[in-house]
Amino acid sequence: MSKLWFDKIKKIEPYVPGDQPNVNGMIKLNTNESPYPPSPLVRKVLDEYDVDNLRLYPSFKCDGLKEILARTYGVDKCNIFLGNGSDEVLALCFQTFFNSDKPVFFPDITYSFYDVWCDLYNIPYRYIPVDEKFEIVVEDYFGENGGIVIANPNAPTGRYLKLDKIEEILRHNQDVIVIIDEAYIDFGGKSAVGLLKKYDNLVVVHTFSKSRALAGIRVGYAMCGEELVSYLEAVKNSFNSYTLNSLSQIVAAACANDKDYFECCRNKIINTRERTVLELSKLGFQTILSMSNFVFTTNHSMKASVIFEELRKINIFVRYFDKPRINNYLRITIGTDDEMSSLISALEKIVAQS
Ligand SMILES: *Cc1c(COP(=O)(O)O)cnc(C)c1O
Repeated sequence: MSKLWFDKIKKIEPYVPGDQPNVNGMIKLNTNESPYPPSPLVRKVLDEYDVDNLRLYPSFKCDGLKEILARTYGVDKCNIFLGNGSDEVLALCFQTFFNSDKPVFFPDITYSFYDVWCDLYNIPYRYIPVDEKFEIVVEDYFGENGGIVIANPNAPTGRYLKLDKIEEILRHNQDVIVIIDEAYIDFGGKSAVGLLKKYDNLVVVHTFSKSRALAGIRVGYAMCGEELVSYLEAVKNSFNSYTLNSLSQIVAAACANDKDYFECCRNKIINTRERTVLELSKLGFQTILSMSNFVFTTNHSMKASVIFEELRKINIFVRYFDKPRINNYLRITIGTDDEMSSLISALEKIVAQS
């Protein structure tokens, strides 16, 4: 039986997120969540929350949250665009800003959502290979293009591109929008947000999911010129005016207000990362220099896919990508010190069998 409607359906290969297993006693190091709970101020606003508020639609201006973020980053409220997780913010940026016949440029090894959004919105794109050390070669971004998106630090490598290099890319691409996805910027890098005053084609995207321990509430934001924000708002309001629910708004605001707790958690994660890299090297792992809350590591004496399976058997979950160039690497989220010690002793046993 022929089904005429079949040809008209949008068929797309979606992004596949990391597993969300729920096993007692598991060690979950596969989706770059924070190992620490959100700020205690979050508990407080939730305890004090008047449930009657839920009858009402949320504020679509999100003034409270925008004010705190504006103060944090030295921008104006009108420079902030909020969304339901930075994935949504990025998707709206692609839809709003990438409308050229020329290809959008991004690295061949990067966040695997970028090509999915291009496919979804019929945006032409070109993968720009990173070099053999997984470093971005800025000169490769000087050719004609329809826009640029770079995750900095990059995922899943953890490699950080210094700000002067980011600026070089911006300087050579002032006729297109350049998006810098800074999901992991709080783990040692320097944000490009200071370049907003100089480049009106720059969009910096952040998330509450990683360094702020709030992956469950889905809040992300873009920072860019007021005019770009207005175009993003128009596209968003043509789709869903109330993307950010009221609970997420107050939770994110409470969290953003607690700078000391934020500093403390990210410093702990950075210290644990450095210790982990050292321990891994003693087991024969080579790890890419990371400025994020994960490490990207390989061991020449054993296949990454085998290590991945062995870890999974004992309920330690890490991420493995069966993709060209990176199929012998594991991406391991930095957990607590205890979690990383358990991982290291498990790896010790696994590698000893090889
Ligand atoms: C995790 C991640 C995101 C998405 O974060 P959400 O705010 O949870 O949607 C975006 N970009 C990169 C590179 C990420 O790793």
